[in-house]
Amino acid sequence: MSKGSRVASARVAAKSAVKIRAALAASIDARRVYTQYMDTNPPVTKDQVLARARARAWAMKNVNLDLATYKKVLARYYGDMYVLGQREALENMADRAQKGPVATANSKPKLNPQGLPIFDPSFTINWDAWTPGNEGAAALLSKPGGLKDLLGEIDIQARGIADYSHDLLGTALADGIARGDTPVTIANAIRDSLSSPERALTIAITEGQRAKISANLDSYQANNVEQIQWTVNDPQDADCLDNDGEIVNLGDEFPSGNTQPPVHPNCQCDVIPVMPDLSGTPEYADLTDEEIAARLDDSEMAVVADLAKYNPDQARDERGRFSSGGGGLEDKHGAEAASHAQTLYSHAKGIEPLLTQNMRDLADKHGTKLEGLDFRLKTQESLTSKIALGVKDGKTPAEVARTISDANRYTMVTDPANYRAAAEAVQKDLQNQGYDVRVKNYWQEGSNYKGVNMALTDPSGNRIELQFHTAESLAMKEETNHPIYKEYQKMDETTPEAQALNAQMVANSATLSTPPGLTNYGEPKIGKAVDLSDFYGYDRREGGNL
Ligand SMILES: [Zn+2]
Repeated sequence: MSKGSRVASARVAAKSAVKIRAALAASIDARRVYTQYMDTNPPVTKDQVLARARARAWAMKNVNLDLATYKKVLARYYGDMYVLGQREALENMADRAQKGPVATANSKPKLNPQGLPIFDPSFTINWDAWTPGNEGAAALLSKPGGLKDLLGEIDIQARGIADYSHDLLGTALADGIARGDTPVTIANAIRDSLSSPERALTIAITEGQRAKISANLDSYQANNVEQIQWTVNDPQDADCLDNDGEIVNLGDEFPSGNTQPPVHPNCQCDVIPVMPDLSGTPEYADLTDEEIAARLDDSEMAVVADLAKYNPDQARDERGRFSSGGGGLEDKHGAEAASHAQTLYSHAKGIEPLLTQNMRDLADKHGTKLEGLDFRLKTQESLTSKIALGVKDGKTPAEVARTISDANRYTMVTDPANYRAAAEAVQKDLQNQGYDVRVKNYWQEGSNYKGVNMALTDPSGNRIELQFHTAESLAMKEETNHPIYKEYQKMDETTPEAQALNAQMVANSATLSTPPGLTNYGEPKIGKAVDLSDFYGYDRREGGNL
């Protein structure tokens, strides 16, 4: 948050970016990848969309990236940024508590038995000279707070890196072949695509921020800070602008739907603690709550934290980090659902770039429009509640998680006259690319939802949903019926009120005219009340990948 901590973060990130880059470059033998691909005699085609898709699918299946070094580098880096984040949190808290700098400041945090820093109103630090030193490595052994989770998720993070690497290298491969480049040039292009300086730096900034914010939040929580404020540091950061300056309870969602940064590659947003104004401390203790409130400005009125509550020995909530204390996800199943959702979400995010490029190409090729790209990923929150709700039916969270096939979703929109032909052409192309395609036709009487939904399984077994709409049926779903669904969602679906809302959605959908040629296309399906969450649950969310 302070200029000093940002400079120190950038210095640590730059150092690690060099190591990340080397680890990515060493993750494949690019010449061998090229030779192996040529051994498959890839058919010559003028359809570069197909050529790229084929090379990427081949890479996903056949190229094993060795990310062992990458994971080691990342773990060490998480440790370094975590200890940096602890200091930053102490600095933020001391700064916000407005005790001012104290000459005897100590820049080495006092830690509680859980390894989390204890609030010290006189904490200051000279960032210029600061390096993590051995403390980052030591933190890897004691794994305080969220650092343990981050280290536990390194395999998932590396899988995202691998997925996107396959995408990058497949594209470089197909494009090099199409240009008629020499094998050496193509091999170099493959290696460079994986280990560009920009990619390494983006990974370093984003993952460093992840570890730092985790340490910030752990430190705030350990010291009973109850509210945090989002700060956008990069004025170009359009994704997070709505969150700038917003205050929420720890663990609650900011306007974007995220609970904490980073939410996109290169996100450098911070969270600062909301602290009581302690200026004029001597009489502070004598003031009543109302008198204190009267002295605070609007944003400070939101202060819930109270220094009187600081108790350094307080144990951490064992159930999970930053639980907001309400909600229905506080049981064991809830925590399990959240963890499966996180895995699903990370994976969906990892395969997203390949998919988006392919879907965009296919949409262009067949005269359809790719709509709603902002909604191409189901939110982690939606996935969590979908899994948690599914558990009620007697299944385990793991079983429910395996049934989810729409963590990645795309929507193509076309004229009614072109609808069937376009859907079929896209279906065929996907099948030629090795996808398994199941066509579900919701253009049926009595359905509360109209459209064709394709359930796709890519050659690696990832499941994706592709919806086909006319402009009218998309507007019906997104504009007319969505607000009704929002109301419906809050109700018990067995009540007459809920059923009336569903009937309203069925009646609205019945006003749509079915595009020609759909009576014998795909499997007929009728959208029912209970299916509704499948049609929604995609809030606008982060894009991008590492
Ligand atoms: Zn951001």
